[in-house]
Amino acid sequence: METLEFQSEARQLLQLMIHSIYSNKDTFLRELVSNASDALDKLRLETFRDKDLTADTSDLHIAIEVDREQRTLTVRDNGIGMTRDDVVNLIGTIAKSGTAEFLGKLKEAKDAAASQDLIGQFGIGFYSTFMVADRVTLVTRHPRSAEGVRWESSGEGTYTVEDVADAPQGTAVTLHLKPADDEDQLPDYTSTAKLTEVVKRYADFITWPIRLAKGGDDAEPEVVNSRKALWARPASEVTEDEYAEFYRHVSHDWNKPLDTIRMKAEGTFEYQALLFIPSQAPLDLFMRERKRGVQLYVKRVFIMDDCEELMPEYLRFVKGVVDAQDLSLNVSREILQQDRQIQLMRRRLVKKVLSTVKAMMADKPEDYETFWREFGAAVKEGLLADPENRDAILGIASFDSTHDAEKKTTLAQYVERMKEDQQHIYYMTGDSRATVENSPHLEALRAKGFEVLVLTDPIDEMWVDGVPGFEGRTFQSIAKGQVDLETEEEKKEAEERQKDFADLLAWMSATLEEQVKEVRLSSRLTTSPACVVGDAHDLTPTLEKMYRAMGQ
Ligand code: ADP
Ligand code: MG
Repeated sequence: METLEFQSEARQLLQLMIHSIYSNKDTFLRELVSNASDALDKLRLETFRDKDLTADTSDLHIAIEVDREQRTLTVRDNGIGMTRDDVVNLIGTIAKSGTAEFLGKLKEAKDAAASQDLIGQFGIGFYSTFMVADRVTLVTRHPRSAEGVRWESSGEGTYTVEDVADAPQGTAVTLHLKPADDEDQLPDYTSTAKLTEVVKRYADFITWPIRLAKGGDDAEPEVVNSRKALWARPASEVTEDEYAEFYRHVSHDWNKPLDTIRMKAEGTFEYQALLFIPSQAPLDLFMRERKRGVQLYVKRVFIMDDCEELMPEYLRFVKGVVDAQDLSLNVSREILQQDRQIQLMRRRLVKKVLSTVKAMMADKPEDYETFWREFGAAVKEGLLADPENRDAILGIASFDSTHDAEKKTTLAQYVERMKEDQQHIYYMTGDSRATVENSPHLEALRAKGFEVLVLTDPIDEMWVDGVPGFEGRTFQSIAKGQVDLETEEEKKEAEERQKDFADLLAWMSATLEEQVKEVRLSSRLTTSPACVVGDAHDLTPTLEKMYRAMGQ
């Protein structure tokens, strides 16, 4: 037997669980059942792909067993199991991206509610067992290993692992429940009524049977979940709560989704989709290893997570399930990439997501504001990545603007307010609203009463150059080149003035040769004496900084 230490981030999370900052302890069971369900999915897939794998798939299921005397609760599956290395790597460390950032934010969280919010986003998984147990034992065997592994811990810094000879296929997690009179006032998790209630609430849609022996040890176990796929049931029969629960299962996010999308296509290529728009961006939305959230099923059978063929990168926050009837169960990524039907399906899914947001804009403006605050920066990536839907994306976008310091504006609203003689949609990019507002470039436009969009997301720098315009109006940076604000008369006057000051300008140009390309008289400024302007084709200061940071 070997005693090992939890990795430090894992230790911190465990401490949080032991001191249970979660208010709802029932959720540990959801986590265990969800892991068991994943393990069964994985085993079925593996046996499809690897014909030499010897595993029994004749009765894949989840079993919940109670021992009232010993005060133990066991959740057992006969799924994929884990090797010894898996156990150490998966249970002893937290490989999830964003863990460090998560813990950092948690320390800063002001109160219990704020912590709950964060934890909800993170999804704590297996460690949640330590909310209700003072010792947890896990026995598991992977079909490729002859021997099984026994893991045990009280959650206090270390755990033990040892090989065991006769472990059955799959994984059994046994919780040694905290004493009943524990100060935390645990619900009675040895009561089958309580367990049935929790399973029905959290795991009814799990496609594998969840069995529970209800009438004591010798009674036949009963299947407690209905196993109905939510997306296959008529929309009118599914309740909000059921959707919310399913959303938690697929997304590991405890917040309610902002919107639910159902789609159904019949005919030559049949499929059903149940998609969710979350109400909060995940911590890893802008990280490299982030995942996409759509799962592929074929005829109710789970095929893969994170199916990038179904949702483009810029909609990576959309979660849910697509169930296709006419694909083969052993369909691979390569096949998906080439399948024309899949491409068509993806186009329809994308259009549906964008039109759902459009409808949200009109019908539920507050939800739309939440949506854009959380995901706008990701959606804008689509302006370059998905030219086909560019107009639709511009149509659901909103931006800060000089028109109103509090409220964002849509482009349609901007155009509506445009002055008669105004040719372009003016914008200025920068690190923050304050930088842009203090910029001398704004002065002349302000003086003329022109509205300027204030673009402060890094991605804004990228798309404004690549996007031709909106409803026939081009985007024009006020920090680049000559902003065409003058009438013919004013232009003549300016030329005269340029002549008058020729000597001074020549002297300044020579003196500042190292620093600037050219010194010009400007009609842009009203209160500042001078300002630095980029060439029409130069990088903007923010882009310049970005490239420099990237080492280019
Ligand atoms: P998550 O499910 O979000 O990955 P968990 O903490 O719930 O996080 O589980 C961590 C990992 O441990 C899982 O990803 C899985 O690889 C492994 N695991 C947990 N429970 C089981 C199980 N019953 N069978 C096989 N592997 C499991
Ligand atoms: Mg899990």
